[in-house]
Amino acid sequence: MLKYLLVVLSESSAPFCYYEKKPRKNPKRDLLPLKSLEEAVIFALKNNLKVNFLYPDHKLDKAYNALIDEVDHVKIVPFGSRETYPDSILVIESDGFPAAGELKGLRDENIIFRLRKNDLGKLSSRLNLLLMKCKRINLVLMDIEAYGAEDFEQYRRQLETVSDKMLKLSAKKDPPELSVLTDRLALDRMNNCSAGLKHLTVAPDGKLYLCPAFYYGRAGDTLGGIRNDIPIKNRHLLELKYSPICRICDAYHCRRCVFLNKKLTLEVNTPSSQQCRISHIEREASRLYLQKLKEAGGNPVALADIPEIAYGDPFEIVETKKLSIADFKKL
Ligand code: SF4
Repeated sequence: MLKYLLVVLSESSAPFCYYEKKPRKNPKRDLLPLKSLEEAVIFALKNNLKVNFLYPDHKLDKAYNALIDEVDHVKIVPFGSRETYPDSILVIESDGFPAAGELKGLRDENIIFRLRKNDLGKLSSRLNLLLMKCKRINLVLMDIEAYGAEDFEQYRRQLETVSDKMLKLSAKKDPPELSVLTDRLALDRMNNCSAGLKHLTVAPDGKLYLCPAFYYGRAGDTLGGIRNDIPIKNRHLLELKYSPICRICDAYHCRRCVFLNKKLTLEVNTPSSQQCRISHIEREASRLYLQKLKEAGGNPVALADIPEIAYGDPFEIVETKKLSIADFKKL
């Protein structure tokens, strides 16, 4: 059942997840037409959906702002627009990381931090700066298709360093959350992105897509105009029960990104090894972090321990148990 709608207000809106935006062809003509915005708002109101609006780095005129205010919503904006849109979720790119002076004004922010592979070595130092100013950081690792053994190891070490910082901050009244370290602690089942199941996207062409990544990706991935009987081909494949690797996995915090699945394995229900390895590095970092929190007598003593496991990718279960593909499908 749909719970929310994403609306990409402009081709140059801040990308908030694992995709890149298209270069802006004509900055003055890249906006979602006002008529389409109205359709999106009416669709959200009729279906009782909350809306996440993705903002560009230029101001919108009054008519746009008035329509947006008609519906319960969250604004996701580029860091540079933080003063124009206070109380928004801010998107920070690692390759345009703000100077110390620009971070000064931040207080209890909600941040999406997109980290390029080239900046992996700076992850802990960047997070250390942001964690002091934030309520929550959602980390998005970009370029994961290029990750190899050394990068996985570097990511593991970086999370270990961040975990020490988080432990110090855990003594605060409202300690910050870091998606890849703290989300798994409170989960006892999969909590994935659920594009196409819990949310859909209205793109700047006024059409529906599974998520913004499908708009910026291949042409032809549109689901058509905004309407209630949305034709999603093979919709069942988006569900967990039709994903043989994911349904036996307990890296519950994993985004299980269907866009990356399709891009890297050509199947929406099959993650690449890189995705699984990264989620399991995070799962292990969360497990160790929880242990440290409990040893320090911190708040989460009531949380269930995360079991230690001997694999870094659930696909290894197939190999170690010598399962055939047919056995594996029955799991
Ligand atoms: S499918 Fe979900 S996790 Fe993947 S890019 Fe789209 S919104 Fe992000």
